[in-house]
Formats: sequence, structure tokens, C-alpha cells
Amino acid sequence: GAKASGRNGLVVVDADGLDEAVRRRALNARLAGAIERDELSLAFQPILEARGGRWVAVEALLRWNGADGPVSPATFIPVAEDSGLIVPIGRWVLETAVRSLVQVRAELGLPTLRVNVNVSARQLQDEGFHAVLHELLEQTGVEPAAVVLELTESALLTDPDRAVQLLAGVRAAGVQVALDDFGTGFSSLSYLLRLPVDVVKVDRSFLMDVVRSRRSRTLLSSVVTIAHDLGMRVTVEGIETAEQLAIVADAGADTVQGYLLARPTPAADLAGLVRSGAPS
Ligand code: C2E
Ligand code: MG
Ligand code: MG
Ligand code: MG
Repeated sequence: GAKASGRNGLVVVDADGLDEAVRRRALNARLAGAIERDELSLAFQPILEARGGRWVAVEALLRWNGADGPVSPATFIPVAEDSGLIVPIGRWVLETAVRSLVQVRAELGLPTLRVNVNVSARQLQDEGFHAVLHELLEQTGVEPAAVVLELTESALLTDPDRAVQLLAGVRAAGVQVALDDFGTGFSSLSYLLRLPVDVVKVDRSFLMDVVRSRRSRTLLSSVVTIAHDLGMRVTVEGIETAEQLAIVADAGADTVQGYLLARPTPAADLAGLVRSGAPS
């Protein structure tokens, strides 16, 4: 990792840290031209009713297929966040996701389908964010409530007061907000109580031992109950087995997402996926 220690303004970086910094800078340089080179695309993963299995939304997940092959978002998103490239990239994601929704709704015959879009804190803080969102909704005719912005706990942790303000602004426009990766950060419950969000997305790490452990199932049910009491809906992500699905539905979660139900898929292939009736 990049460990730096400063003394008298001098920064000492170990060899590993230097390699890491060089690697990130090179990655960022390649990423800078990715939109123009048409290397970015979106995969869409369905989000289904926990009971009934109807598709209620799709989550847009960014894919980068560069000259050296695909790079995972877990690798390049943090780099783009550091450099600020996440602002133009995130704008491309938002525009592409909402425009794709119009097409996907028509192809699937699902006129009320929503789209979930991952948004970095840095993007939300950008001055132009509201204008872009507003214009996009106007141009496409998509109802604001059909757009769900996913923000992670850790992204909101840096400046909670500012986060609350920004989220309230988004919601005042009718757009929905989801708290992503819930349960992976600190002070989760106090956060849940404080942040103005519509949906809590419970991280897949919650599922690790729900099948074996009654305590874990109790924890899951409690989170669902608290969220519901606060007027929030609950999505559980990362469901890979039928046992997990049964437990999550039993716990009262509203919607589910995971490889068991459907993998992230290019927009053009979603119709085939829904016809093959893959999910329950
Ligand atoms: P996330 O938003 O929590 O998305 C869920 C991740 O879990 C996705 O990984 C998805 O492919 C994966 N996943 C879905 N179902 C399962 C399952 O059953 N098992 C397992 N093991 N994994 C599952 P992906 O696509 O690699 O994205 C990783 C993260 O990168 C996302 O986590 C999100 O935080 C970030 N990301 C992706 N696209 C964007 C974007 O457009 N903007 C921003 N800011 N972040 C993004
Ligand atoms: Mg997400
Ligand atoms: Mg998540
Ligand atoms: Mg995640």
C-alpha cells in the first residue's frame, strides 16, 4: 500500500507505495480517454420482488474494456474518484443508464421499470450534477422516481451534514436514493437513522452465514424491521443460493438481486433473459 510519512514537509514513500502510485497514474491516464475510445459500457443487473419475482428495477454497472482487456470497477472507480475523472465518467453513466431505461422498458414491456445508478460522493458534490440530472429527465421523459441513485455509506461518511443536504436536494426533485453496501461501514445504525434515503441495500456480506446461523438471520430480520419502521424499502444484494433467497424473503426484504436470479447483462440481452424466465 501507499504509505507516506511526512517530516519537515518531506514525504517518504516505500517502494511498494511508489509502484502503486505509478500504477494508479498510468491507469488514470488510460481511463482519461476511455469515453472517446468507446471503451465504456454498462451491464444491467435485474432487481426483483422478493416474493413474486417480478422485475422492478435494473442496476447499471460500469464496464471498462480497454486496450489491455477488461478492468474491474473495483480497481478503476477508486482511481477515478481520486483524480476527479469520476465526474465526466459518472455523467456518461447517468446519461447512458437513463437513456437505456427508455429502450429497455419498451423492449421488455415493463413501463414502470426503474434504473439504479451508482453515484460517487464526488459526483454528487459537483456543481453541475443537478442540472445534468434535471435536463436528462426532461429530455427522456423518465419520471424522477424511476431513477434511484446508489451511494455508499463510506462515500457519505466524510461529510455527513453536507451529505444529508445533498441527498435532500436530490429527493426534493423526486429522484430516489439508495444506501448501497449497507453493513460494511461504521456506525451503520446511526447512519441509517440519519440519512434521508428511500432504500437500504444490504451488502452481500450479510448473507455469509445466514444459512447456518440463527443469529445472522435475526440480525437480517432486525435490519429489515428497522428500515421498514423508518419508511425505507430493503434490497438484499449478492444472493447466490436458493436457501439464501428463502431466508431473505422470510426476513421481509422487499427486493433481491444476485447471481442466482440474474447476472449483470448488456441492455440488448435483457429481453432474452426475461423470456428465458431465468428467475423464479
Ligand atoms: P455495487 O454497487 O455494490 O454493485 C454490486 C456488485 O456485486 C457488482 O460488482 C455486481 O456485479 C456484484 N454482484 C451482483 N450479484 C452478485 C452475486 O450474487 N455474488 C457476487 N459475488 N457478486 C455479485 P461490479 O459490477 O464489479 O461493481 C463493483 C462495484 O463498483 C459496485 O458495487 C459499485 O460500488 C462500483 N461501481 C460499479 N459501477 C459503477 C458506476 O457506474 N459508478 C460508481 N461510482 N461506482 C460503480
Ligand atoms: Mg450499487
Ligand atoms: Mg452494493
Ligand atoms: Mg459494492
